[in-house]
Amino acid sequence: MRQAPGSPGRPPQPEADVIDARPQAPPAKQQGLPAQDVIRINRLRKVFAPGTAGELVALDDINCAIREGDFVSIVGPSGCGKSTLLRILAGLLDYSDGAVTMDDQPVQGTRRDVGVVFQSSILLPWRTVLDNVMLPAEVLGLDIAAARRRARDLLAMVRLDGFENRLPGELSGGMQQRASIARALLHDPRILLMDEPFGALDAMTREQMNMELQRIWAESRKTIVLITHSIPEAVFLGDVVLVMTARPGTLARMIPVDLPRPRTMASMSTPEFGARTQEIRALFNHAGAFD
Ligand code: ADP
Repeated sequence: MRQAPGSPGRPPQPEADVIDARPQAPPAKQQGLPAQDVIRINRLRKVFAPGTAGELVALDDINCAIREGDFVSIVGPSGCGKSTLLRILAGLLDYSDGAVTMDDQPVQGTRRDVGVVFQSSILLPWRTVLDNVMLPAEVLGLDIAAARRRARDLLAMVRLDGFENRLPGELSGGMQQRASIARALLHDPRILLMDEPFGALDAMTREQMNMELQRIWAESRKTIVLITHSIPEAVFLGDVVLVMTARPGTLARMIPVDLPRPRTMASMSTPEFGARTQEIRALFNHAGAFD
């Protein structure tokens, strides 16, 4: 089987020097057409330190497909390989066996059409919010004037207009994460990968951020893959929830969530919400699934 040759941490390669600020065509799903698979994962296996005393099988035999425009949540016990999976999808980490494709192309290194948001917002403290959001434009060599316009639009979308010239230290944790979401969207990626982006926020702010993220997803028409420790968050946001087993991480179940959009706080009191969260909790508690 083929091994992905992507190199960890390889900087993104500039592909274009202008940003196409025109609205994108909505994903097929939002046009009422059948959605295409954008990501396919086939028999994925990741072994750290293979052949050494410290060999560790982090992921084993993961198979799934992610449809364009979907919001996909991933939950699983701590250490089950969620971040490893996300880093592989982001092209930041090699895998050992199997195949990962985006638009039928093997994932090999970082890609222009993918944006990543991590748990810590990783904003540079000496740069203003606007200049932080502009960072990918500098790294990718994009047209600065067009990028600046887009950065302002994105800051408005994440409701940070008026804060462009503030320093990150002047913002709350939730505002900093919204700025990092704007930064991840600057180069207009089709796919947004998010690794526990709200893990460090208090419960109230987290609920607000879930509402915000749903809106941002609906407005930006991206495919989003979100890792979370919170089962209610996974169900509230996801079209589908991927539930992983304990190490070595395998896919226990893909659970579709049949709740109408936009979801509101009232959605959390519905029988569907209760049934899906129960189903996932039962998987977590089922010894066989997570031993
Ligand atoms: P999760 O995100 O589900 O908490 P991770 O993907 O971070 O899990 O880690 C999965 C397993 O792989 C853990 O046992 C972790 O210790 C191990 N691991 C992660 N990164 C490395 C690495 N670079 N080298 C060796 N082991 C690693």
